[in-house]
Amino acid sequence: MKFAIKYFYMLLFLSILTNYPLSAQNGQPFREDITITLPKSVKVTEKPTTYIDVIAELNKLPAYEVWNWAARENVLLEGAKKLSSAMEIIALQRETINPTVKNQIILNGIHTPKNFAEVQLLVDAATNSSVKDKVISENIDICSNWAEYSRLSELASNPSIKNEVITKGILKTDSLGKAIFLAERSSSADAEGKALLEKCTPFAKTPFDYQILARNAIDPYKSKILLKALGIFNSFEDLYDLGSLSGSPNVKNAFAEKLLALGTAKSDMDKILPFANNSNLLNNIQQLKDQLPDNPPAYRDCAQLMNEIKTKWGVNIHDNLTQQDRWTYQQLQWIDGVFQTLPKEFIKQTSELIPVSGGNPFVFGSTIQASQLNKKNGQWVNAPPIVRMHEMGERFEIADGGGFKGTLVHEMAHAVTFQNPSLLYAWENQFWPGGKNVFDPATAQNIYNGSLKSPSVSDYGNTEPKEDFAESARLFWQDPVKMKKEFPDRYQFMKDKVFKMEFLG
Ligand SMILES: [Zn+2]
Repeated sequence: MKFAIKYFYMLLFLSILTNYPLSAQNGQPFREDITITLPKSVKVTEKPTTYIDVIAELNKLPAYEVWNWAARENVLLEGAKKLSSAMEIIALQRETINPTVKNQIILNGIHTPKNFAEVQLLVDAATNSSVKDKVISENIDICSNWAEYSRLSELASNPSIKNEVITKGILKTDSLGKAIFLAERSSSADAEGKALLEKCTPFAKTPFDYQILARNAIDPYKSKILLKALGIFNSFEDLYDLGSLSGSPNVKNAFAEKLLALGTAKSDMDKILPFANNSNLLNNIQQLKDQLPDNPPAYRDCAQLMNEIKTKWGVNIHDNLTQQDRWTYQQLQWIDGVFQTLPKEFIKQTSELIPVSGGNPFVFGSTIQASQLNKKNGQWVNAPPIVRMHEMGERFEIADGGGFKGTLVHEMAHAVTFQNPSLLYAWENQFWPGGKNVFDPATAQNIYNGSLKSPSVSDYGNTEPKEDFAESARLFWQDPVKMKKEFPDRYQFMKDKVFKMEFLG
């Protein structure tokens, strides 16, 4: 053993000569004049196992001797391999000023983290992204829950490592919402689509789950998600909703084929006609339409579904009996469906939901919030918001823009800001800076007079901050992929502050 140690120091000595040519040192003796003798008193610890051991080893080689530098670095590097705590690796790293050695110490101590916090410690201490990525990829499995995977994915720079962390993290989630949250952190829209299709679909149970997945994915993943759902579900309404999300003629044809067999009324055939892209299919739909009755048979009671929605979502939904306006069964299904795709906190801000007929035919919905005098303290207080869905005669749903469902989300977004004014103030500050509320005698309302910083998601959104907010919420819900691409700052606001993660089921 002793011989081996001596041999080690001889090698060390040789390497010092190679690494530090002394001719470069002004005023220093030439190489052949140097003799190095190891201090006799030094007791070499062969296998340092603690930080103290490594430092003791290091102190045997004083830093003021230039020729000790490489040897000292070697002690640090060898020591790092034998330590067992990430904290000690960090401490060891502080013993050198050489950035390459600092990073190599991290790599040599890559085995030390015992939990996510310690992985993060090493990643933070590394000054080079490939070293950071190496630490991450070696320690992915240390994460104990999906949130840690999410944070780890954000630390990674290399797309394939980032995506590996995400796909492993999705397996540790317990809900579709969390799985999608992770998938969204993928390195690209393509990787996100792949994660949604391959890793998130196992979490999907209902047609609405598939709707959320399809809305978040780009093609070809979106098409594959929709076709998967087409193979699973058998209700006309569910499949019609899913098929409406597709922009692909082939996918739409496939939906039309199955819907053709499920439709029970002329009105069903009218709905799927726009799906069909070949003359054969169009003819079949037309033929069947001629044979079917005008309306589908009512198969469940509206009052029962209203009660179900009330119990499930806590929104008081009822007919508007003073005006004899009643919800149709299909509208109630739409409402229930939309609620299934919204964060619970978002839904809770709406207190009541009623149908309204008459009035301006171009107004699809409205949200009102009455002020009431509080009997106890005599102060005016705002009543909980009521969302009103207009134009009951139309009973329409159009795939893009307005439509019943988009309008519902738009109106509910107004309820969100009624209940949380600070959200609207933050929105105004960011997207309509420099304004204040001024009273407009013409409309007897307060109008916000800030100027629009960047275009809203629609013309209507350009008119004023609260419509900008509501339209942005609608688009975030309807087409997050498009919104992320075309309105990234509004997308981010909606994602972080309105459709918050903790609200997802
Ligand atoms: Zn509005």
